[in-house]
Amino acid sequence: MTTSPYKLAVEDLTVAFGHGRRARTVLHGVSTGVRAGQTLGLVGESGSGKSTIAKAIVGIHPIRTGRITLGGEDLTGLRGRGLVAVRRRIQLVSQDPYASLNPRMTIGEAIAEAVDPVRADARKHAATVERWLETVALDGSAAARYPHEFSGGQRQRIAVARALAVEPEVVIADEITSALDASVQAEVLNLLEELRRSLALTMVFISHDLAVVRHVSDEVAVLCRGELLEQGRVRDVYRAPRHPYTRRLLASVPAFEEKPAFEKTLEKKESAA
Ligand code: ADP
Ligand code: MG
Repeated sequence: MTTSPYKLAVEDLTVAFGHGRRARTVLHGVSTGVRAGQTLGLVGESGSGKSTIAKAIVGIHPIRTGRITLGGEDLTGLRGRGLVAVRRRIQLVSQDPYASLNPRMTIGEAIAEAVDPVRADARKHAATVERWLETVALDGSAAARYPHEFSGGQRQRIAVARALAVEPEVVIADEITSALDASVQAEVLNLLEELRRSLALTMVFISHDLAVVRHVSDEVAVLCRGELLEQGRVRDVYRAPRHPYTRRLLASVPAFEEKPAFEKTLEKKESAA
């Protein structure tokens, strides 16, 4: 066992692409982690290495040095069946829902496969599928339809339902609202916020958008050119960023003091309730 406070911990992670003189290091000894039942917001500009961290965690990118642990268990260098098992315990949802949703499978089939990869029978698992669809505020009738029949926001909610149906220990959401219009983005974020509470999710929420990250995270980690600059409680980092880069990043958020639209939507909902 480790003494790490984190459910999922990344220690001194280095990732490089290419070999020999062409090799380019994109993560330089990154250490971070997420506590059980909490959400870690991972922010950084495009190209800073956010997706590379996510992919290294789930074993898509090989790592040069470092260690990844889940509940104290070392996942580094797992292959074969061990890797397959870990991929179930940590679910990655990305910006492009087609990466996690097969266009030729009905939603019901896709979720049934997540529930039970061995006997992925949509009819056998109909009740469970319906429950997961309802969890993401979709009607059970969605089960018989195909991904292209849904809007972008609905597809992302389906991708989330599919990931949750695996009952993973950690969910990594990589820019899952970035391609959506502001109002649809607010809808997905409010849903995540609800799920985070009701399911006590442990989540890594990746975004280049600091306003969005603030809304859904307990802690925030700031990445810049493959280096982790600082990590702390959201209110501490946003009120008193320690690193000049974080200060600049916060200053560039338009009308940062003003509440973003989705928080206003939330307040409206709350006062209506
Ligand atoms: P972010 O998600 O923060 O936008 P990425 O992790 O996607 O950043 O990329 C970080 C850096 O690594 C970028 O410079 C990108 O070009 C590079 N990179 C990402 N994936 C690969 C790959 N498969 N091969 C080579 N370079 C890559
Ligand atoms: Mg990315």
